[in-house]
This record gives sequence, C-alpha cells and structure tokens, in this order.
Amino acid sequence: MKRLIVLGGGESGVGTAILGKQKGYEVFVSDKGKITKEYKEVLVNNGIEFEENRHSEDKILNADLVMKSPGIPDTVALIQKLKAKEIKVISEIEFASNYTNATIVGITGSNGKTTTTLLTHHILMSADMNVGIAGNIGDSFAKQVANQNYEKYVLELSSFQLDGIDKFQCHIAVITNITPDHLDRYDYDFDKYIASKFRVVKNQTENDFLIYDYEDVAISNWLKNNEVASRLVPFSLEKELKYGAFLRKDNIVIRLNEEEYIMNTSYLKIKGKHNTKNAMASMLASKLLQARNEKVAESMSSFEGVEHRLEKVIKVEGVTYVNDSKATNVNAAFYALECMDEPTVWIVGGVDKGNDYTDLLPLVREKVKGIVCLGLDNNKIIETFQNVVDVIVETAGAEEAVKVAHKIAQKGDTVLLAPACASFDLFENYEDRGRKFKEAVRNL
Ligand code: ADP
Repeated sequence: MKRLIVLGGGESGVGTAILGKQKGYEVFVSDKGKITKEYKEVLVNNGIEFEENRHSEDKILNADLVMKSPGIPDTVALIQKLKAKEIKVISEIEFASNYTNATIVGITGSNGKTTTTLLTHHILMSADMNVGIAGNIGDSFAKQVANQNYEKYVLELSSFQLDGIDKFQCHIAVITNITPDHLDRYDYDFDKYIASKFRVVKNQTENDFLIYDYEDVAISNWLKNNEVASRLVPFSLEKELKYGAFLRKDNIVIRLNEEEYIMNTSYLKIKGKHNTKNAMASMLASKLLQARNEKVAESMSSFEGVEHRLEKVIKVEGVTYVNDSKATNVNAAFYALECMDEPTVWIVGGVDKGNDYTDLLPLVREKVKGIVCLGLDNNKIIETFQNVVDVIVETAGAEEAVKVAHKIAQKGDTVLLAPACASFDLFENYEDRGRKFKEAVRNL
C-alpha cells in the first residue's frame, strides 16, 4: 500500500485524505496547528489516522506522496527535508485531477477570481450543465471528485495551488489580471509571482483555451516572451478584437468562430469596469463550452454579486454605505474607487503588504473627500494622502470607523470600505471585517 501524507487538516487536506483513502492509499494527516472538531469527526468517521499540533517526522518522511495545503510555504524545514529525499510534494488540485476526466475551467488572477468563478458556474448551471464548483470556494475539489460525478468543474485557483501542480490540465484557463500581491511568498519578486499564475497554462494543448485581459501589462509582457500551446482568447474594454470579447458602446461583443454574440451591459447587475471584465471572461468560457445565448443573458441579470465585494449595505440619512472588505490589495481598491459616482469617504488600512499607493492618487483627488484609517499602523496612508484630502482620521475598530465616516459624510455621499490591506491586525479575516462594518452601519 502506498503511503499518502496530507499536510494540513483543513478543507483541501481533509478532502484529499478522503479521496486518497477511497483510491487505496494508506493515509496520514498531520497539522502543525489545531484541526477543527468538524474535520476531526470526518477523519474519524472515515477511519483516517491524524495528528495535530505537530508534524511527527518519523510518520511523514516515509511517504510515497505528500499533499501540502496551499497555506504551507515551500521554505519550511519539513518541506525542504521531503524534497531532499525526492518525495513528491503536490497540491490538492493536482492529486484530485488524477481521478477525474471532467472538463476543467481553471480561473486564476490577482483579483476577480471568486467573482468570475461564481459567475461562470452560475451561467453553466443555468445552461443545465452538470457542473461543480471548487478550488478556493466551498467543498474541496478532492472531496467532490470522491463523492460526485460532475462532467465539468469551475475551479478557483490560487497561485499556491498552481505551484503544486505537475500534470493538471485546464481545458479553459482564465487569468483575470496580474498585479502585485502575496509577494512575501515569492521572494518579493513580481516575476516569480507572474510565472506562478501562468502555471495555469502548463499542460494545455492546442485544443485548449487561455482567456485573459488584453490590457493587462504583466500578462501581455509574459505572452510576448513565452510560448503558449493553447488558443489565446483575450477580452478588452478598449479595443475591438478579431477573436475574443470587447466593448462596443454599451454592448459586450463575444466573437468566437465567425459568430458574434452581443449583449447589452444593462443585463449586468454587478457594477464597475472590473466586473464588466469579469463578465466578459465568464461569458467567453461559457460560450466556449457551448452555453446558449439566452441562458447567458438570463444568468447575467440574475447574478447579484458576492458578499464583501462592492456590496451595497444600506443608505443612512442619504449616505450610501458600500462594503468592499475583500479589496485587500491596491488594485482592488483602485477599481472600487473608480466605481464611485458620488463624493466618497474612504475607509482604508490594515496590514500593509508593501503597498504602493501612487496609482490611487488621481482617483483620490477626484473622488475622496475624507479618509478614515482602519489599522494599527497608518503612517504610509497618512503620508501619501495628507495633502490630497481635507480630513484624515485614525480609528482602530469597525464601529469607530463607521461613526467617524458617518460624521464626515453628508447627504448624497458614499462611505466606502475598501482597505487595500489585509485584515489581520484588527480582525480575524476579511469576512469578519466586512461583517463588523455592516453591523456598525446598521446600528447607526
Ligand atoms: P479574488 O478571489 O481574486 O480575491 P474577488 O472576486 O473576491 O477576487 O474580488 C476581490 C476584490 O477585487 C474585490 O474587492 C473586488 O471588488 C475586486 N475585483 C473584482 N474583480 C476585479 C478585477 N477584474 N480587477 C480588479 N479588481 C477586481
């Protein structure tokens, strides 16, 4: 019996363990931290051996194969030891893909993955396809491969998942965009991060497709210097393309195989240029999978967007409150600010990931009347914007931030939470930050 070691007892780890056991491996799960009660129960019920709060090397270094959770960096000593022993270390996506022949749509990028993944899945479901959704969303891919029988999957793929692939192949790959993020995991080298995103095209053939943003500089530079086997399917907000998707006035035009499919942007419930791009990517993927036109339009108008992504909360005394807590990097905050049609009080801050705010200056000058900092260390924000806006106030909690924003805002303004930073200084995660923001707004 081959021995499969699963490092990390979270969603992807537990899913891999279930699938591994089903496929005849002797499975051992090891987590350096705690494993939640729910996951422990699943492991016990499936007769899978596990440990928590440690990695016992004597039980791990005898592996035939190791699945590493995407949260564990390659640099930790244990992974280095495994690699030195030439034991294969792969990701859950790689492991699970060995056991399914389903057609895969793999969606990666710095921003817009979740929105594009959910929207694509929504269209394909409306088109009556037998399709699952996994990756960073919901039940793990491995668990679904073990328990379901989907013909297609839409997968949200982080660069960490892609770092651990070997033979995994997407029929349709999507790269929404590439801007600096998570550079701490890539030796602060943007090129390494770009290369990691482009692993999504690894193993693609001329029968496969790569959908991408035509205007994205990092993507087009990479494509200039590297060969891709699959067919290139760009989308553009600015240029009429021979093949792919583009905007013609208020219409999205999808041009594939001589045919044109035209849909008015008024069908889109999700707002902003970035969401028009996400919609184009989803529409291209769905049309390549032969979804019918009327199903595409229908599902566009019934997709309400995703919580914590430019989510309208409520209006209080004529002031609109918008929760974009998922704007955890500068580029996402850029698009959030760009969507603002009204004078804006901007709540920003948290854990800085080496942010450069310069790109935001013109938008802030044009749209922002006041800044409310929501973080422990706000120096960089204050330094960058103090001469650009009238008021900057520091706060250290969602309730305080909302109260201060409420004071600054007047009827007709918008208060926007788009932190451009991670949340871990004051919150558990971005969901916690978004929820506390919404609660504070409702309590005004
Ligand atoms: P991801 O899963 O890649 O983090 P999300 O769909 O959760 O992407 O969106 C993350 C953040 O980025 C949100 O603040 C959202 O408003 C913003 N965003 C969504 N799509 C795009 C895009 N195409 N370009 C830039 N920002 C985007």
